Amino acid sequence: MKIFILDPIHNDPLEKAKQIGEVIKWDDEELKEIENAEAVIVRTSVLDKETIDRMPKLRIIAKHGIGTDNIDLNHAKEKGIVVTNTPTANMESVAELVVALSLACARKIPKSHSMTVGGLEKPAPKELTGIEIGEKKVGLIGTGRIGRKVASIFKNGFNMEIHGYDPFLTEEDADRMGIIKSGTLEELLKVADIVSISIPLTKDTENLISSDELKIMKDSAILINTSRGKIVNEDDLYLALKEGWIRAAALDVFAVEPPKPDNALLSLDNFIATPHIGAATEEALIRMGTTAVEEIKLLMDEDSPRFIVNK
Ligand code: NAD
Repeated sequence: MKIFILDPIHNDPLEKAKQIGEVIKWDDEELKEIENAEAVIVRTSVLDKETIDRMPKLRIIAKHGIGTDNIDLNHAKEKGIVVTNTPTANMESVAELVVALSLACARKIPKSHSMTVGGLEKPAPKELTGIEIGEKKVGLIGTGRIGRKVASIFKNGFNMEIHGYDPFLTEEDADRMGIIKSGTLEELLKVADIVSISIPLTKDTENLISSDELKIMKDSAILINTSRGKIVNEDDLYLALKEGWIRAAALDVFAVEPPKPDNALLSLDNFIATPHIGAATEEALIRMGTTAVEEIKLLMDEDSPRFIVNK
């Protein structure tokens, strides 16, 4: 089977892919001959209707990661192409980044670093005074795999009170995980000291956090988005940070990635940016690549892949 790997993956799963098929990878000249692809591994490259139509022999698109908003799932389904993802491979890494960004905002770590590098006359300048996060309230928008991991770290590590807003969160699950279920988004935004977003990008979630929602949040609150850029309206977030509607924010994901240097958010010192590194750890990269290769192998063996997202 000809496996086209459109974006760079870790060397371990790359070697595994070579054991099960003929691999054409991201920097090979033959990648242009996409019409030969029978299997594709994709991270961020866009697989729209037009691109899918250029691959008449394609049987499987194995997404290396979770979010499949870069793939036309319905069109793939119409053409009988199986689309899979790697749902459990990166939740730990993304959850750890949520915690890291929350602390970075609370303790002004990037600003502390740049002021120290710039040279200080005295230690601990007043403008670097931060806040603690322990014992405070976290509001999770989305309590799926990543949201639940975040809940567990904040609860067990920082003794925080966890609130969750998710239409699919049952009272039973909430009780079992020690999450207080919010009936509405507004209810969650009103109480949370840290709001963290872990939901897919869909027509319904685009601009979910805009000026109305930012105005409901506490002026001392921190917003973290590691899911998809377009869920937060960046112009409204800029205003919110500039005018003090909220304390600080960190985005790992942007409407345009990587964000352009003239993105107004980057000029603010109560804003932290990371360039979509949520799943960028050695461990997660190995797990995501390995799972994607395993899904292709299952299909080749006429078995059903485990993580089909376009049934
Ligand atoms: P998941 O499917 O396990 O959980 C998503 C949850 O969101 C579900 O429980 C669902 O019910 C809930 N949800 C959907 N719409 C909602 C809404 N309008 N309001 C509240 N809740 C809603 O997915 P996950 O593994 O937790 O990942 C979440 C998202 O994180 C992915 O879709 C992906 O886009 C993003 N992600 C980003 C990175 C990164 O590198 N930054 C890495 C992995 C995943």
